[in-house]
Amino acid sequence: MSKKIFAANWKMHLGPAGAREFLTDFLGRYEPRADREVWFFPSAIAVESVVSHLEGVAGVNIGAQNVYWEPKGAFTGELSVSMAAEAGATAALVGHSERRHVFGETDGETRQKVIALLDAGLTPMLCVGEKLEEREAGETLAVVQRQLGVLDELEPADLAKLPIAYEPVWAIGTGKTATPADAAEVHSAIRAWFVDRGMSGQSVRILYGGSVKAENVRELMAEPNVDGVLVGGASLDPAQWAAISSIEID
Ligand code: PEP
Repeated sequence: MSKKIFAANWKMHLGPAGAREFLTDFLGRYEPRADREVWFFPSAIAVESVVSHLEGVAGVNIGAQNVYWEPKGAFTGELSVSMAAEAGATAALVGHSERRHVFGETDGETRQKVIALLDAGLTPMLCVGEKLEEREAGETLAVVQRQLGVLDELEPADLAKLPIAYEPVWAIGTGKTATPADAAEVHSAIRAWFVDRGMSGQSVRILYGGSVKAENVRELMAEPNVDGVLVGGASLDPAQWAAISSIEID
């Protein structure tokens, strides 16, 4: 059975020193378990210090929050995939709702990032999810399927590497969480999307994200189609992140 993923998205918090301080506190509390991986998405400038602080810790994975698809050049402020890899990142978030809705990232750009990451041997974690008005209009599954469409041209071997994070936009940073039943419905549609493309449903890991906390992680993880969580706000507190990422799963 594939391992569950507990992923922390630190957004624009914690530089190199803050990240080291966080990890010292976190590692004193965290109970490693063989059934899971703990992923960290620090700010780009803290990737290297997180990688070096976690050297030798089993079951952890460090990724960038964003990358640009061009290998190098006059792209002020951007981070290439090879730079992220040089700092020790093995993954990157792609299509996070803040990239899509604050910075206007399109499905086409998301697709180019996925391809650049896979070409370089890094793992994209593709984030998908509907806005409140889309949910209210009954368009949730259509939006998620359209966003998954950026993977249309990929080979099954690449598709199998790629975790998907379902993050309803209305639940991110708002304190509103999708009910386990809401999450289960969308997760099962995402799994079906992969099965339709000839893959075994079990090979894809589907995470839920959106106001996950120590108090609600257990019931979300109890859903059979939820293979992990992507956590923003609650991952910034070392005690809470250790509690979330150490929970026992039945
Ligand atoms: C996120 O940033 O991916 C996220 C889910 O944030 P939060 O947990 O704060 O809602």
